[in-house]
Amino acid sequence: MTAPTTGEVARTWAGAGLVLAASNAFAIVVVLPLPESGAWLRLQHHFFDALHVTGLAATGALTAAAFSHAPTRLRPLGWALYTAITCGLLWPLLDQTMTRRAIVIGTTLGFEVPGPAVSVLHAVFLLLIGLSIPASHWITKALFRLRFGRPFVAGAAIIAIVIGHAVLRDEYEDIHTAILWPAAMLLGACLLPLWPEGLEQAKPRAVALVIAVGLAAAAVLVSPPTEVRRELFRTQGSIASFALAQTIWRVPTIPGADHHVDFIDPLPVPEAQPLVKDPVVLIVGIDAMRGDLLSEGRYDTELRNLSRLRDSGAYFPRALAPGSQTSITYTSVFSGRYFSQLHWAYHGSGKERRLYAAADSSPRLAELLGQSGVRTVSFLSPGFLRGNFGIARGFEEENLVSKDHAPARKLMRPLLKELRAYRSGGALFFAHFMDPHRPYNLGPLKEGAPEQRYLSELLALDRQLGTLIYVMRRTFPSRGYIVVLADHGEAFGEHGTTFHSKTLYQELIHVPLIFYGPGIVAKRHDQWVSLIDIAPTLLALYGRAVPASMIGENLLPALLGQPQPPRARPIAAEGRQRRALVLQNGLKAIEDRRHKTIEAYDLAHDPEERVDLVIHDPKRAAEVLSALRSFFAKYASERNGYQPPYKR
Ligand SMILES: [Zn+2]
Repeated sequence: MTAPTTGEVARTWAGAGLVLAASNAFAIVVVLPLPESGAWLRLQHHFFDALHVTGLAATGALTAAAFSHAPTRLRPLGWALYTAITCGLLWPLLDQTMTRRAIVIGTTLGFEVPGPAVSVLHAVFLLLIGLSIPASHWITKALFRLRFGRPFVAGAAIIAIVIGHAVLRDEYEDIHTAILWPAAMLLGACLLPLWPEGLEQAKPRAVALVIAVGLAAAAVLVSPPTEVRRELFRTQGSIASFALAQTIWRVPTIPGADHHVDFIDPLPVPEAQPLVKDPVVLIVGIDAMRGDLLSEGRYDTELRNLSRLRDSGAYFPRALAPGSQTSITYTSVFSGRYFSQLHWAYHGSGKERRLYAAADSSPRLAELLGQSGVRTVSFLSPGFLRGNFGIARGFEEENLVSKDHAPARKLMRPLLKELRAYRSGGALFFAHFMDPHRPYNLGPLKEGAPEQRYLSELLALDRQLGTLIYVMRRTFPSRGYIVVLADHGEAFGEHGTTFHSKTLYQELIHVPLIFYGPGIVAKRHDQWVSLIDIAPTLLALYGRAVPASMIGENLLPALLGQPQPPRARPIAAEGRQRRALVLQNGLKAIEDRRHKTIEAYDLAHDPEERVDLVIHDPKRAAEVLSALRSFFAKYASERNGYQPPYKR
């Protein structure tokens, strides 16, 4: 078989660029509603998407042409270099999502992938996808010689492109790259006969060269503004933009945003008398319960027990979760530290293999209490809440009800039994209820809109919590405490997302927080607080000293109604290389270090986060961005070159 010519290789790339640009434009129009700020933003979105895709294709065309144009003797070397370059370009694009998926599939089929093999598998994926680009030139050439070769390749490529735009509509850039890039190359090759004759001649070739260099240079040099970047990453075809974000773009800034802000560490909390003799604390975690369900009072009839507890305890209507996914939030709750203050690495095997702070030695709440003779028992699902994952570490007894999502009644039985039988000594009980988690099928309502089924699950859970609260009050009338929290909220279309863990907007990080028990004054506390305050507060309640590693605040004096001097401490939240910070005046900034965007909001006047202050009030945006940058510059752990990873 004759080798693909330089002209064929270059035109395949050009075709691929046009195919991707057209399919992206189509996907943008079909999938995304017109942005609230209007058509101008949409036009910029189209422009930059097309520029990035064609710029990337032009780079590919120039590289491929340079190598396939080598003298005959050196041509194999040229192709090898071409492959090396495609693999190299893929390196920043491929995180371990695809490898993790392969492990999950392998485990389902009965193959356990050992730890070191994961890196090998990752390298194999990289090589295969990197190889698929040069290989596509040869494959198409061979297939086109068959009678129906061309329509077959074109049909398969079109199906793959549609799949690439439709499946896994989340941040799976590596999977979308792996599907869309080779598919566009195949379809680009099918377009070869459509190119006009005579492109091989000197003058048209020079024009093509100038266009290619111009496109490649413009894609790199003309960087889109932050609001356009946010739009770009709302569809799956933005693989070229993502490549630029990973390699060339920097996190944008605005004048005044690099002003240094100083933060004072929390005051030390020394050992003292416990609040009561032998406190018994029950931490009730509810998965995915939004904060506004309790703060706005709209569901008080449905959530009767929780709203009663809210009104008879210390309630924080402005509590924020330190993350928008279970493992991040709970690791922070029990360690009193934020995500980027902890050390995360792959842990676990099979399906459970993900990033955890398992090897991070910061003491956890249950470990500290256990050391002073407090009995500690947890009632859990799913499996990764077990102590060895470093999240709820240190409970002397773990009751794992299910490795997956257990309904509340399964947890309730052993929990109520334990509480009723418990007699003397201090104790910490922790139960996490998964009921409101997607797919919203654990409530009585089995059909209807997701939000309705989600509410139905919460309503059913509230009834069961009624029993739990009753048993706590009855069994431990003078020493029983209940803490209610949610690990994150849930989105139902806000900011174009559903589910959780994807963003740090309020629908995902605003959560309920209630402390209830003897001595705790019934009161709404209006300051912004974080769930990382729970561990220091409970340690103080047990009379234990709070270790310096915990940067959460001891809320106990506030719970007891003691006057508190106002402290201007900010509240942070993190996830997926995004960092958010909320100041006590309600200003909030979000910095996305993966997509290289910034945004800021005034939660006091814009609780739904619709008006981006970076554009509409840069001065106030700069105030909160400065605070965000100073905060993480001070607290994020970047020792020995460690960078807080992208945690899915
Ligand atoms: Zn969760």
